[in-house]
Amino acid sequence: MSATKKALITGITGQDGSYLSELLLAKGYEVHGLVRRSSSFNTERLDHMFQDPHEVSRTLWLHHGDLTDGTGLVNLLREVQPDEVYNLGAQSHVRVSFDMPDYTADVTGAGTIRLLEAIRAADVETRFYQASSSEMFGSSPPPQNEDTVFHPRSPYGVAKLFGYWATVNYRESYGLFASNGILFNHESPRRGETFVTRKITRAVARIAAGLQTELFLGNVDAVRDWGYAAEYVEAMWRMLQHDTPGDWVIGTGTAGSVRDFAEVAFAHAGLDLDKHLRYDRRYNRPAEVDALVADASRAEAAFGWKASTHWEDLAKLMVDADRRILEDELAGRLVRIDR
Ligand code: NAP
Ligand code: GDP
Repeated sequence: MSATKKALITGITGQDGSYLSELLLAKGYEVHGLVRRSSSFNTERLDHMFQDPHEVSRTLWLHHGDLTDGTGLVNLLREVQPDEVYNLGAQSHVRVSFDMPDYTADVTGAGTIRLLEAIRAADVETRFYQASSSEMFGSSPPPQNEDTVFHPRSPYGVAKLFGYWATVNYRESYGLFASNGILFNHESPRRGETFVTRKITRAVARIAAGLQTELFLGNVDAVRDWGYAAEYVEAMWRMLQHDTPGDWVIGTGTAGSVRDFAEVAFAHAGLDLDKHLRYDRRYNRPAEVDALVADASRAEAAFGWKASTHWEDLAKLMVDADRRILEDELAGRLVRIDR
């Protein structure tokens, strides 16, 4: 192992990838990220960490690649020789997975085994983190912990379950230090705009500014355990520093319904939700996950991780951030996502 630890992150351009990069850079890691080729810039969440590519001593390196391109993954692993691999890349939207089930299975499911196999093919000595999901529990009633029966309710959940078992299997078959973080929903001002929390907090900002009057949602009775993404990446890192690999649930242990979250968010801006909320069945899923609430006591016992921010504070924090972002946009100022 080199003196400076090296990490390779798939999904570095996503919400968690950006927070994890910040964390690892602050810890002195050299961070390498896999970036999909896109016809427009897709590195907005990393802009505030940008390092000049001409700088030889830079610590953040971006590489083009894709979880569907196995050969590229082998070559990249051989080149980077990481000490830790974080597999955060995925088609990560549950509703979209019903429209694109085959693609979701390929990227989110098979992509995981492709990356695990690439680690073997490149013959690198590395620890492996798999971004597993509470969506794997699906219809199993809360609270959910590591012993809860899996019953996924979407192609996304099914694909994540494949990735989960692939990770367990490579640990058992080849002795790879491979761990699953079974993370419950986690949000932030960097959350994708079509996930329900961010959709709500952006709508609050726009309604408060007089730019929008209505917010269309689907099932507002679904219950989720929403935590703060900036805290969850610390759990990922701790899992890979632990003495032994394993599978851990990460969540806050508290939860509210989508309506509860929306009520807190609207009230925080002095708005009445009922005046603006409209129902649109387009946002319903063919099968719903009714309630997810984590029992993360094993993670706390194993490596001392515990959530600090709970969903009510998260809703307020996200409203404040979205109002600032909108103010910057309206004033024509550069919007930086270093929140
Ligand atoms: P996200 O913001 O949607 O980011 C997903 C990342 O995957 C993006 O960087 C995306 O690239 C990349 N990606 C998509 N398709 C890819 C492909 N074919 N090849 C390589 N990369 C690809 O998700 P997140 O919220 O940060 O979540 C991180 C991981 O944790 C995901 O695997 C997610 O499923 C899982 N997870 C999330 C939660 C949650 O509540 N946030 C809970 C449990 C598990 P682009 O930027 O180019 O789209
Ligand atoms: P998920 O838990 O990974 O599916 O995260 P989402 O943020 O996409 O959805 C959380 C819950 O909000 C699910 O039960 C959805 O059915 C519900 N929901 C209700 N209205 C909407 C909506 O307009 N968009 C999204 N994304 N979810 C919605």
